[in-house]
Amino acid sequence: MKLYFLGTCAGSEPMPDRKHMSFALECDENIYWFDAGESCSHTAHNLGVDLLNVKKVVISHPHMDHVGGLGNLLWNIRKLYLMKKPDRVSDIDVYIPNLQTWEGIMMILRNTEGNFKIPFCIQAHKTHDGVLFDDGSVRVTAFHNLHISTPENQWQSYSFLIECREKRIVYSGDVKCYSELDTIIGTGCDNLIIETGHFGIDDVYAYTKNKAIGKIYFTHNGREIINSSELAAEKVNRLFKNNAAICFDGMVELLE
Ligand SMILES: [Zn+2]
Repeated sequence: MKLYFLGTCAGSEPMPDRKHMSFALECDENIYWFDAGESCSHTAHNLGVDLLNVKKVVISHPHMDHVGGLGNLLWNIRKLYLMKKPDRVSDIDVYIPNLQTWEGIMMILRNTEGNFKIPFCIQAHKTHDGVLFDDGSVRVTAFHNLHISTPENQWQSYSFLIECREKRIVYSGDVKCYSELDTIIGTGCDNLIIETGHFGIDDVYAYTKNKAIGKIYFTHNGREIINSSELAAEKVNRLFKNNAAICFDGMVELLE
């Protein structure tokens, strides 16, 4: 079981070494994709991830730093299919809080080569609270948060519990405040993938210090980390010892 950190930057202007938010979980050779910031499939392919093994794509919310690479991911999957012609490619489920965003992406894809015809199914589902899927290997449960709140109460922004091989991995998505993760983390979790785009290292420490969390991954990194990465790394090491890491684009983490 592996985590691939594909993009580790918050929604900033272009940065030299970091692209927008995305990571993938590999389990039993299947790939479960979380958020799809710019160039995520390019980074994954060059890390050796087989994009034809992507089974599920889970989008936390429709901001560009989380969906900017989604069309390109699907386009690259089709391109690799046409190149490799494998016997079968499994269908792909996409979970996204805003189906208008999905329609926009599909409209772009249908105007690319070959009308984007593919011999497998890509099915979009509107994200909702509760279990999104449980395929026997991985179960993902969504919890709405207040990063985006809309007047009509259509939730547009989610955090996730990812359960795989008895591990509990929490992915914050973007949140309004960390306490929104309380119900997901509960008494603890094995891994916490936490956004720092709207918060500082001290905020993460204050929120997690009395919780039973195996290892914390800082991603969707904000100014404190991007602007002075060495100082930030020192601070994280001092506060969290070996229980936290500042993720970088292309970082691969073995979870077993
Ligand atoms: Zn973001």
